[in-house]
Amino acid sequence: MKYKAPRGTRDILPGEVERWQQLETRFRQYCTLYGFSEIRTPIFEHTELFLRSVGEDTDIVSKEMYSFQDRSKRQLTLRPEGTAATVRAYLENNLSGQPQPSKLYYQGPMFRYDRPQAGRYRQFHQFGLELFGAAGAAADAEIIALSHDFIRSLKIKEVNLELNSVGCPDCRPAYRDSLLSYLEPLAEEVCPDCRRRFAVNPLRVLDCKDEKCRTLAAGAPVLEHFLCQPCAEHFNQLRRLLDRLAIPFTVNPRLVRGLDYYTRTALEFVCPDLGSIAGGGRYDYLVEDCGGPPTPAVGVAFGVERLLLAADEAALQQEAVPPVFIATAGENLEEEALALAAQLRSRGIAAETELMGRTLKGQMKQCGRKGYDLVLILGQKELSQDLVALRDMRTGEQKELPRKQVLDTVEQLRQAVETSAR
Ligand code: AMP
Repeated sequence: MKYKAPRGTRDILPGEVERWQQLETRFRQYCTLYGFSEIRTPIFEHTELFLRSVGEDTDIVSKEMYSFQDRSKRQLTLRPEGTAATVRAYLENNLSGQPQPSKLYYQGPMFRYDRPQAGRYRQFHQFGLELFGAAGAAADAEIIALSHDFIRSLKIKEVNLELNSVGCPDCRPAYRDSLLSYLEPLAEEVCPDCRRRFAVNPLRVLDCKDEKCRTLAAGAPVLEHFLCQPCAEHFNQLRRLLDRLAIPFTVNPRLVRGLDYYTRTALEFVCPDLGSIAGGGRYDYLVEDCGGPPTPAVGVAFGVERLLLAADEAALQQEAVPPVFIATAGENLEEEALALAAQLRSRGIAAETELMGRTLKGQMKQCGRKGYDLVLILGQKELSQDLVALRDMRTGEQKELPRKQVLDTVEQLRQAVETSAR
């Protein structure tokens, strides 16, 4: 074999792709239910956008971006996440000038030079929600409620919603100072990454995965005690709303998230064996930082691969209705088969014809292997009498039908199968 897919990427094959499609459909249904509309942005953006929004000191920007120069020497980057591009599109297309809030969702591949492992890829996929223009905790609650409903529909066994407030530019500096006073004497004990974080963003020490750092972080001052009154009220209000909606959560005072733009709410849906399956929060200054008017916003992104790993097998199963197979018994019947397939397809019934020149026996064997249930058999002699054979593979029953009854009969049988699949 000469070529392999690049490390950290994978093919999604027939047999597996159906679960992806089910998941995508499910996500869309919940978005529609909550009044979110889809936005599709380019796969690559100007590198500058991510430097400015995600933050130069974040892991994503400093270690994980796929950046390149195009032939006109533009610095471009394959998108590592969806929020920055959505903000850019929201401003560039003047969605901010339309009645607010703007409720948007996206889905598609993201790219990070991460260390590949189970559920972690270099090209991975996210579903995301972004809600622009609403400052109140009800907007956070709406993002969380949609996420909760969608995740619950997947019957994931153990999933916990973790919440925190990371404050705002008014109250965070005091916390940062207090945290630094606590951490500085421990400089020799934390990991080298965290020592570097002291200077750029000490809050990120709180969610370091290193065992030693975690133990040290457990004794750190708690952010919630430093929240200014509006931030504290926002956090309280959000908790009240979630209680009212019967959405369970736990407050994790060490949840700070790896991106720079979060203010107030930080949230993560966590599974014990997979880690975070979705994460997000409020980002009230990002739109302004990207050159727009002051615009509060809140969003979340789901890792599709992880949702698929975590989802219950049965929750994404749908009985696929197989195509009707049009078999040919003898030479020169291809044209007749194609014409009949076209008629079935025009009635919305999936149909396939023989393209490999197999014998009738070979075709029937193939239908058995593929799990096809209905086979129409065209034979020269029968056609000359205006007859077509219909074989039900489930019962082995075969009968001859007048040519003009074929479409109606197949349609009735298909409807019966679809109803029972439902
Ligand atoms: P983030 O954009 O880092 O907040 O991540 C949001 C979600 O995307 C996470 O909860 C993961 O489920 C998923 N995710 C992030 N990075 C990867 C990756 N390299 N491979 C697969 N999923 C990922």
